[in-house]
Amino acid sequence: MASEQSWKTKYQQILKEAEQQERQSKEQRELLERMLVRTSVASEGQRPELDRLLNQLRVDLRRKTLNAEKWLQLQEQIDRQIALLDERAQIPREPATEKPVPAPETEAGIDISDQDHRLLIARRVGQLLSQVLEQVTLEPPAEAKAKELQQTLLSSIDWSTLRDSLKSVSELLILAITRNQRELEAFLKRLNDRLETLRVHFAQQSESNSSRKDDTEALDQEIRHEIDLVSEDIRGSDDLEQLKRSVGQRLDQIGNALGRFKDKESRREQMMAEQLESMQQKMAAMESSSERMQEQIRRERARAMTDLLTQLPNREAWQERLHFEYSRWQRYGHPLTISVIDIDLFKRINDTYGHKAGDRVLQLVARELQGRLRATDFIARIGGEEFALLLPETSMSEAVTVVDKLRGYVEKLPFHFGGNPVSITLSSGLAQLVRGDSEDEAFDRADQALYRAKATGRNRVVAN
Ligand code: GH3
Ligand code: MG
Ligand code: MG
Repeated sequence: MASEQSWKTKYQQILKEAEQQERQSKEQRELLERMLVRTSVASEGQRPELDRLLNQLRVDLRRKTLNAEKWLQLQEQIDRQIALLDERAQIPREPATEKPVPAPETEAGIDISDQDHRLLIARRVGQLLSQVLEQVTLEPPAEAKAKELQQTLLSSIDWSTLRDSLKSVSELLILAITRNQRELEAFLKRLNDRLETLRVHFAQQSESNSSRKDDTEALDQEIRHEIDLVSEDIRGSDDLEQLKRSVGQRLDQIGNALGRFKDKESRREQMMAEQLESMQQKMAAMESSSERMQEQIRRERARAMTDLLTQLPNREAWQERLHFEYSRWQRYGHPLTISVIDIDLFKRINDTYGHKAGDRVLQLVARELQGRLRATDFIARIGGEEFALLLPETSMSEAVTVVDKLRGYVEKLPFHFGGNPVSITLSSGLAQLVRGDSEDEAFDRADQALYRAKATGRNRVVAN
C-alpha cells in the first residue's frame, strides 16, 4: 500500500508538471499570436483584399478560432495577395483606388514610397522575429533558419528575397506552435501508457492475492480432512501395526499437500518479484523523462524571464515580482518602495557613438546597478534604457539614499568613447506604497516622479 501511495504522489507530481508545460506552451503561443497581430497591422494599407485577409487573421486570433489547416489556407490567400503586390510594383501604378498615397516618386517604374513601406515592414518583422527568438526554443535547424531569416529581413533590399523570407517566417511560426503541441501530446501519451501498466500490475496483484486465498483454504480443508481420517483410524482400529501404517500414510498426504502449497507460493512470489522489478524499471524511465522535462521547463522559463542584452530580469519577471511583493506588502504592511530609473540623454549616446556603444553602456550600467544592490532588492530592465527597482522593507527616505548612491556610482563609471571620457548619468523617480494603492498606481507615481526628475535637470532622484 505504501508503494501504491508513493506512485500516486509521483503521478500527481507528473500531472502537475504536464499542466505547467501546457501553461508554458500557452504563453509562447500567445506571444507568437501577438507578433502576428503586430505584423499584420504593420502590413496594412497595401491592398483592400490583403487588409481584409489580415483583419480576418486578427479576428481569428482574438477569438482563438483558428486551426493549423485553416491558417494555411489563409496564409496561401495572403501569399497570393503579396504576389499581386509584387506584380504591381513591376508595372506603372494604376489610378489610386485604395488608401491615399503620398505623391509617388518613381524610379525605373517602381514606386519608391511603396518600396520603402515594404522595407519598413520587413525590418519590423525582422525585429519582431528576434524578440520571438528570445522567448521560444526552436529545434536547432529551425533556430538557425530563423536567425538567417532575421538577418535577411534586417539587411536585404531585394523585395523578392524579402517576400520569400516573410513567407518562411509564417511557416516557422506554425512549426514552432505545432512542435510544442506535439511534445505535450507525446508526453501525455507516455504518461497514459505508464498508467495503464500500473493498472494492469495492481489488477494482477489482487488476482494473485485471491488465488492465494483459495489455495490456503484448499490446504486447510485437505489437512482437516486428513486429520479427521486419522481420528477415525485411531478410533476404529485395534491393530497397532496397521494403525501406524495408516497414520504414516495420512501424515505423508499432509506433507505432500504442504509441499504443493509451498511450491505454488514460491512461484507466486517469484512472479510478483519479477513484476515489481519491471514496474521499478518503468518508473525509473518515467522519472528520468519527467526530470528532463522539468529541466526543459526551468530553462525555458528562465529564458522567457531574462533580458538578452543585459541578462537582468525582464518586464515579465518584473510584473511577477511586483505582484509577489505587493501581496506581501498587503499582508504584512511592511514598507515597500518602487524606483523607476532612466538613463539620461541616451539617444545622444546612440546618435554620437553608435548603437553598439549604446548597447555596451546598457550592459555596464545594468551590471553596476545589479552589483551594488542589496540581496533583498530586485532590479529589472523594463524598457530600452529604463530599469525598475523594488525595495522591500524600505521606507521612502531610506530608498532615496539607496538609489541616490546608485546614481553616484553610475555617474563615476569610467566610460571612454574614441579616447574621450564620457559621463553617463541617470534619473530616478520613487514612490512608496500607501494604503489603497494598486500595483499600477504606485508604479505610475514613481514614473511621474521620474518625469519631474527629468524636467528639473536630470541626474537626480525625486521622491513622490
Ligand atoms: P531622457 O533623458 O529624456 O530620457 O532622454 P533619452 O535620450 O534617454 O530618451 P529618449 O526616450 O528620447 O531616447 C531613448 C533612446 O534609447 C532611444 C532608443 O533608440 C534608445 N534605445 C532603446 N533601447 C535600446 C537598446 O536596446 N540599445 C540601444 N543602443 N539603444 C536603445
Ligand atoms: Mg532616457
Ligand atoms: Mg526612456
